[in-house]
Amino acid sequence: MIMDCAIIGGGPAGLNAALVLGRAKRNVILFDDNNPRNRVTKESHGFITRDGIHPMEFRKIAHQEISHYPSVEMQNVRITKVETDKYPAYFCLTQADGEKIYAKNIILATGLKENLPAINGINDFYGKSLFNCPYCDGWELRNKPLIVISEQQNVFHLTTMVWNWSQDLIVCTNGQQNLNRKQKEKLEQKGIQVQDQKIISLVGKDGQLERVIFENHEVQRMGGFISPRLIQASSFHELLGCEADDQGKIIKDDFGRTNIKGVYVAGDTITPSHLISSAAEGSRAAMGVNADLTEREFA
Ligand SMILES: Cc1cc2nc3c(=O)[nH]c(=O)nc-3n(C[C@H](O)[C@H](O)[C@H](O)COP(=O)(O)OP(=O)(O)OC[C@H]3O[C@@H](n4cnc5c(N)ncnc54)[C@H](O)[C@@H]3O)c2cc1C
Repeated sequence: MIMDCAIIGGGPAGLNAALVLGRAKRNVILFDDNNPRNRVTKESHGFITRDGIHPMEFRKIAHQEISHYPSVEMQNVRITKVETDKYPAYFCLTQADGEKIYAKNIILATGLKENLPAINGINDFYGKSLFNCPYCDGWELRNKPLIVISEQQNVFHLTTMVWNWSQDLIVCTNGQQNLNRKQKEKLEQKGIQVQDQKIISLVGKDGQLERVIFENHEVQRMGGFISPRLIQASSFHELLGCEADDQGKIIKDDFGRTNIKGVYVAGDTITPSHLISSAAEGSRAAMGVNADLTEREFA
């Protein structure tokens, strides 16, 4: 059987796409290897009606809702290969166990992976008291003594954002020269300490940051924000020839359509985002798939 749509990725983007396509009576298969970006956190914030929810509880509720729609199948398996024939033929997806599935369309909702700065202990705190996005976790860290760690060019911008939530800030570039003189002066005017030294290690207990150790001194901090390097969790968009802009962002229209017919994108795969916007993009991509199928069928 050739499915109407295969969705790769079962985060909020892929799950919402599955829900909308199921409700449109489409035969859908969703593949997910359950390794989302936010797996390290215990609470997700900012999604109305779900504020504070555990990421796995979010998925459980989504699976329950999708299970009401019999034309949607969900497989807990990794897709290792996607091949294409000429549109409107089909795509062939290979599962990790070698099985092949055929679909008229695919939605890529595979998300991103984090590459954290190489600092001793950082993994113990990421998602617990060190986060990447103040909109997601700033409220929980409000008014606390925080550190901003960024080896990237966004360090100034990230610090100005975090300052809204706490003005007791130390910024650490971890040995990088990514703040210019003017920016340093501006930060110092605001009472923000700038630290160019490399961090030796992060120390604390049960995920709660307590101290940041530099070569010659240490500081007490109760949490903070870091900017990880983000890379695509899967690279099917490149292999299929989806165009990206000069920032590497996949080019798509309002309904997730890429330049490759039958290939749609949604969620963090397009650009680092949030749960609610990823879910919304999944919904839009599903509408794109359904509209294009209907147009072909009605012709
Ligand atoms: C520490 C942290 C905290 C966060 N907190 C919040 C928050 O509080 N609020 C908020 O709105 N956002 C938060 N985010 C951001 C949020 O997690 C993402 O924006 C959101 O998960 C993106 O959804 P997505 O569906 O695009 O991707 P994901 O949720 O990452 O899902 C992608 C899925 O695709 C699967 N996948 C990838 N490749 C394959 C393959 N080849 N085959 C099968 N499956 C595959 C992955 O395993 C994963 O399950 C946080 C992120 C992090 C890192």
